[in-house]
Amino acid sequence: MPYELFHNYCPDVAERETRTVTLTAPQNGLPADAYGMLEMYCNEPGCDCRRVFFMVVAKRYREPLAYVAYGWESRKFYARWMRSDAPRDIEILQGPILNLASPQSKYAPALLRLIDQVLLSDPAYIERLKRHYQLFRDAVEGKSVGIADRRLHAAERKRVLAAKMREVQARRSQKRRAR
Ligand SMILES: [Zn+2]
Repeated sequence: MPYELFHNYCPDVAERETRTVTLTAPQNGLPADAYGMLEMYCNEPGCDCRRVFFMVVAKRYREPLAYVAYGWESRKFYARWMRSDAPRDIEILQGPILNLASPQSKYAPALLRLIDQVLLSDPAYIERLKRHYQLFRDAVEGKSVGIADRRLHAAERKRVLAAKMREVQARRSQKRRAR
């Protein structure tokens, strides 16, 4: 499950539709800052894991402060997907949870709460995530088609070029014969 920034695939939509939570005063263990909730989705062709990773960045820090994983589908969906009904496995997939394998700052637990309480309590925002996921997945799947297309075009160009060369050679020998 390699996750990549939504920005890399759909920069215009990402620019317009990425949520930022601005705290004008310290709140619940977080300093005042603008927290950008950058979305990352899985870029593995053929995969349909239906999760988002939030990479949380802030104006005052160079490094991301937290990576939060969240899946909007039902427990049943992830159980089927994982081929496991171990509650802990499903909890990890569904979240929201601090991603175990990612670096996390001391603010990460507070950011997880912020995402859970402010962002994920908004059904319209979850619909937006699903739409972004679909856009991202279409771009991923379209990209591999694009490479196949380019290969096809290269082969076609080569074929056309070879035909043209034969034509030129045929005309030359015709001219020679005509002389
Ligand atoms: Zn995936």
